[in-house]
Amino acid sequence: MSLSRPLVLVGPSGAGKTTIAGRLVREYPERFRFSVSATSRAPRGHERSGREYTFVSREEFEGMIASGELAEWAQVHGEYYGTPIDNLRGMAEAGIAPVLDIDVQGARQVMRRGIDALVIFILPPGAAHWLARLTGRGTESPQGIVRRLQTAREELREATTFEEFVVNQNLSEAVRRVLEIADGGVGEGACDPGVEELCRALDAGAADEIARIGGRGVADEIRKEEA
Ligand code: ADP
Ligand code: 5GP
Repeated sequence: MSLSRPLVLVGPSGAGKTTIAGRLVREYPERFRFSVSATSRAPRGHERSGREYTFVSREEFEGMIASGELAEWAQVHGEYYGTPIDNLRGMAEAGIAPVLDIDVQGARQVMRRGIDALVIFILPPGAAHWLARLTGRGTESPQGIVRRLQTAREELREATTFEEFVVNQNLSEAVRRVLEIADGGVGEGACDPGVEELCRALDAGAADEIARIGGRGVADEIRKEEA
């Protein structure tokens, strides 16, 4: 395959997309570079504009949509996120593959636009590991976690429509699998019953955790916030 073909990592929040993308760009800088998305959400903790994201206002983001600067964009948890077209062009010209850490809606737009990208769905190895990773990151309030789990459930239901999967149990092994697929090897395909079963188990784990965190109370608060 072309070495500069964009690599799109999708999957539920906490699956390890950012961690895997980070390893790829650090270990193979001559081959991969992180595609810095634009977002209207506020920076967290140590995040710096131009590094994790380019942080812009909602108005600026709407201007980017109107002027056709984005290869794809979506609203996730009420905020705008999108990939500047220049990220894809500039790197391809330099022979470097952009690595996109985006949501399922964005990945679908990339495919619909006919952009020749490799899309890999990253899955956590099981509900218990996944929930520990999501909560262990320490960046989210209980409402934030419930919202992420609700979005994750929607993404997991769409998972089997993608073609390539990597289960992120051991990080080095997951990175190796991603590289293998990028080099033309086959991943754990959508028809693999193990993948479907894992998605169902993750979905059930997410539902239990939503109920455990606060059930209807927290979910109602989110609905009120979003109304
Ligand atoms: P995502 O970008 O998919 O939301 P992150 O890359 O932020 O997920 O990972 C979520 C958390 O899980 C982080 O704290 C990260 O350090 C941890 N993590 C990622 N991959 C692994 C792994 N293979 N084993 C253990 N912890 C992991
Ligand atoms: P976070 O706020 O945790 O950094 O990201 C929230 C979600 O937005 C994640 O699922 C992430 O993959 C997604 N995301 C980040 N950048 C983009 C982007 O450029 N486009 C789309 N469609 N989703 C993005």
